Order: sequence, then structure tokens, then C-alpha cells
Amino acid sequence: MGVMSFAPEALKNLFKKPVTTNYPAEPAVYPERSRGHIEISINDCIGCGMCVRCCPCGTLSVDKIKGTWTIDRFDCIACGYCVEKCPKKCLFMKQGYQEPGAEKGTVTYTKSPEVLAEEAKKREEMAAKAAAAKKAAEAKKAAEAKKAAESK
Ligand code: SF4
Ligand code: SF4
Repeated sequence: MGVMSFAPEALKNLFKKPVTTNYPAEPAVYPERSRGHIEISINDCIGCGMCVRCCPCGTLSVDKIKGTWTIDRFDCIACGYCVEKCPKKCLFMKQGYQEPGAEKGTVTYTKSPEVLAEEAKKREEMAAKAAAAKKAAEAKKAAEAKKAAESK
């Protein structure tokens, strides 16, 4: 095969845009179906822990009272199982990958103070309701016991 047989291809490529990009000087363009990384709309999380239980890598943790959701991105394999299982649909995949680093570390997302205060208020209201219901049930039981004792 003579050198000249490559000439048409070489000439064509001289006038084409390069197929590579000048990353990282230019922003990366991710393929449409790339998985990327996990993100969370933390204020919508109910702290149910479903994502923690279903994660095959044990990379997640949730604290319902503190309103935090934590991920070790270096352990995550971006399988998307937590996204699929989240009952509130507050987990999602976002394009872009975990940047390389010399050390592993976790990232913690925390609910806004307003949402935390609202949730604490709801918990207090529910606890007060439960206490009132318990007290009413005990009073009813005592009244029934008294009635039964009087009828003997
Ligand atoms: S994408 Fe997969 S590995 Fe990553 S946190 Fe979710 S369930 Fe775990
Ligand atoms: S499954 Fe969704 S709602 Fe439940 S703790 Fe995980 S992120 Fe929050």
C-alpha cells in the first residue's frame, strides 16, 4: 500500500474539527446517557433510610433527627439503585464525575434550619397527641374498672 493511499484521508482530516476536546481547559461534555453522580434534594428527604438499606456498597448514612444525608463518593459505584428506591424521589443522578483525590472522604448534606424547625415542631405535636391519647385511654380504663367494681 503506497503512502499516497493515505493522502485523501489525511487531507480530509486537515479540515475537520478534532474528535478530542481540550479538557480540562474546556468543560467536559458528557454523553447523554452517562450516569454521573448522585445528588439529593435534601429538604425533601424524610430520613426513611431506604437508600441506606439498598446501597450495595454501604456508602450512605442518614440521620433523621439531625436532618443529614451523607455519602462517601469514592465508595459509590453509581449503580442508581438508591435513586430507584427513594420513596420521595429526592435522589437523582447528575452528569459529571467525582473528582480524583488523594484521600477518601464523605460529603454531608443538611436540611435548612427552617425545615428542621418545622419537622421538630411536627414531632412535638405528634408526641403531645400521643401522650393525650394515652392519658385518655388510661382514664377510660380506670373509669371502666371503677364502674365494674361498683357493680359488684
Ligand atoms: S448509586 Fe448505588 S452505590 Fe451509589 S449510593 Fe446509590 S445505591 Fe449506593
Ligand atoms: S430513600 Fe430518599 S427519603 Fe429515604 S432517606 Fe434516602 S434520600 Fe431520604
